[in-house]
Amino acid sequence: MQGTVVGRFAPSPSGRMHAGNVFSALMAWLGVRSAGGRMVLRIEDLDPRAQRPEAAQLMLDDLRWLGLDWDEGPYYQSERREVYDEALERLTELGLTYPCFCTRAELHAATAPHALDGTYVYAGACRNLSSVEVARRSISRPPAIRLRVPEADNPVGTISFEDLVYGPQREVLARDCGDFVVRRSDGVYAYQLAVAIDDALMGVTQVVRGRDLLGSVARQMYVQRLLGFDTPTYAHVPLLVDPDGRRLSKRDRDLDLGEIRERDSGPERLLGWLAAAAGLVEEGEMLGADRLVERFSWAKLAGTARRGDVICG
Ligand code: GLU
Repeated sequence: MQGTVVGRFAPSPSGRMHAGNVFSALMAWLGVRSAGGRMVLRIEDLDPRAQRPEAAQLMLDDLRWLGLDWDEGPYYQSERREVYDEALERLTELGLTYPCFCTRAELHAATAPHALDGTYVYAGACRNLSSVEVARRSISRPPAIRLRVPEADNPVGTISFEDLVYGPQREVLARDCGDFVVRRSDGVYAYQLAVAIDDALMGVTQVVRGRDLLGSVARQMYVQRLLGFDTPTYAHVPLLVDPDGRRLSKRDRDLDLGEIRERDSGPERLLGWLAAAAGLVEEGEMLGADRLVERFSWAKLAGTARRGDVICG
């Protein structure tokens, strides 16, 4: 890989960090530090409804306690609205956006489930509304804004990339997601747009996150290409799941960093356990983040991922 690796932490401040977030954050940090790169911290606080007061501050404090440091930021997406406004304007100038008035119920009724991330493939009900119709509907309901994707037979809409952990990937936008929302009807910018723009403008070259977001890459790369940005390398990491295959979540209180920090005097037990789960060290080793750097490799993590998600408990 050419040039300095620039990675990022991109937490959403929706609650306290738990072992699942820490696993992704640790892999992102090791990916950067093992390559002598730089880490950017960006708080993804776009959605006012999905936030807990104090959560961002607690996350910064938890990252410090874990020994996962950063070189730049924190940036707050809530302060970057103008940047997204400008990107949307450029996409609109390209003739690629349109207002969508569909309600949630209409979307569910008219669409087929998406295989990768459970979101819906948009069937295009508002794709070709006349300006008169747009004006008429705008009176009763503010629209969301969607970005057009190329027809299925247009090669521009087929996105291929090599994930550092999960290997070669290919998505056909028209078939796998359809035209997607870039700004919601309440005016909040969509995750897909904000992340694509921020990763590009912040010079991020390596995106590491949970494999639940593997299905977002094609949309983010599409936005970046339309705007003439470089696209980063992607590495998705396995999820931590319980023995029934359910993703560990904030409901599992003993994996919450609040609980862990009350119980453990330092992060070594948690980090050692997560590193063993990733296949980087033997089970039972207690190690600080710094000592894991030399034990890290994408090949080891890819070997672990081939066996499926990481079962805990
Ligand atoms: N903010 C997202 C989350 O906390 C992560 C987005 C990303 O890594 O692209 O789940």
